Amino acid sequence: MDINRKILELGEVIYPEIMEIRHELHRHPELSEKEFNTAERVEKALSQWGIKYKRNPHGTAVIAYIKGKGEGKCVGLRGDMDALPIQELGNLPYKSEVDGVMHACGHDIHTASLLGTAYVLSQISDMFTGTVKLCFQPGEEKGRGYEELVEMGMLEDPPVDAFLAAHTCPDTPVGYIHVKEGPAMSASSQFSVTFTGSGGHAATPHLCGDTIVALSKFVLEIQSVVSRRINPIEPVVITVGKVQSGVRSNIMPKAAYIEGTIRTPKRETHTLVHEYMRQCIKSINLSTGTEGEISFIMGSDSIINDAELVEAFVNELRPLLGTDKVIKPGTLFLASDNFFRFTENAPSVYFRVGVRRPDDKTIFALHSPEFYAEDGALLTSILALSRGAVTFLK
Ligand SMILES: [Zn+2]
Ligand SMILES: [Zn+2]
Repeated sequence: MDINRKILELGEVIYPEIMEIRHELHRHPELSEKEFNTAERVEKALSQWGIKYKRNPHGTAVIAYIKGKGEGKCVGLRGDMDALPIQELGNLPYKSEVDGVMHACGHDIHTASLLGTAYVLSQISDMFTGTVKLCFQPGEEKGRGYEELVEMGMLEDPPVDAFLAAHTCPDTPVGYIHVKEGPAMSASSQFSVTFTGSGGHAATPHLCGDTIVALSKFVLEIQSVVSRRINPIEPVVITVGKVQSGVRSNIMPKAAYIEGTIRTPKRETHTLVHEYMRQCIKSINLSTGTEGEISFIMGSDSIINDAELVEAFVNELRPLLGTDKVIKPGTLFLASDNFFRFTENAPSVYFRVGVRRPDDKTIFALHSPEFYAEDGALLTSILALSRGAVTFLK
């Protein structure tokens, strides 16, 4: 039987069960590195289907193994499991039952569809050679989990020849995936700034050094770094996510504090942005009589998709999902993903799976309290991950 027909048939068989598991995970989301029930649910399903796996006894990572009919290459599939400290505001029938915790990045979809993929591949293991390692990653939202998987032997015995991962995409309707060669996800860095003055009465700003004015100027000025100092064909995002200062209306605070993040695909551009931001601080110090200090932490590196693998993936997936359903080139997303650590070891592909209701004009971003993902994305992911694994094993 044709392998695509078999994958589709098995995907449809397991879909209702995977949907149940997904709803269960969505109702009971767990924060980074606390995915104990999630990992147990993963283990339960794998045992039920007779699939071999390893669970980290000191953590929550799980690796499942599916061997084909003979020796061959090895493909690693990544699915992350953690949720976020966000109160869910939507009205899904399977809404989070845990106060202040929500699957707002769709990692419930990733975990459940990786399970579905394990089922499909275990049923067609006589149709490919080599090994598939299905890697359930904890702690992704905190940039963790990769090390745990490596300690469990993810990269050895056999070494991985290619990695593949899916991420939900709220801009794209359910049923579609998109993928691009080259940079797919951005590199990130974080900054924190403290402006200090002497503090004092609100009526005597000339004696105090106005830290609030300095903070406000800085927040606006850095947007000019993006629009006026960086080549407009290069995508850059600078976002301030935290500002802190002051206690009451007539006291000028001694300090004002800002934290934010920078996203741009090239590492060199981060260095340039950092330099411009240091210059901003100097000019603001002069005009406000404050002293500002800025520090940076380099975060994730970008994810670069392998051109040849993307080509093979798209060509073999289109007959299964439909030509128009596989969008290439997809768009660069300026978020970052800890999957970049996996890609340092082998050529990789990171693709995005549409989750939005086709008639919904509103886009609820990842990490939004109203983010939702349609169940149909599970089937699309299962088909794409299964087909991708078989393609990369050739
Ligand atoms: Zn996220
Ligand atoms: Zn995510």
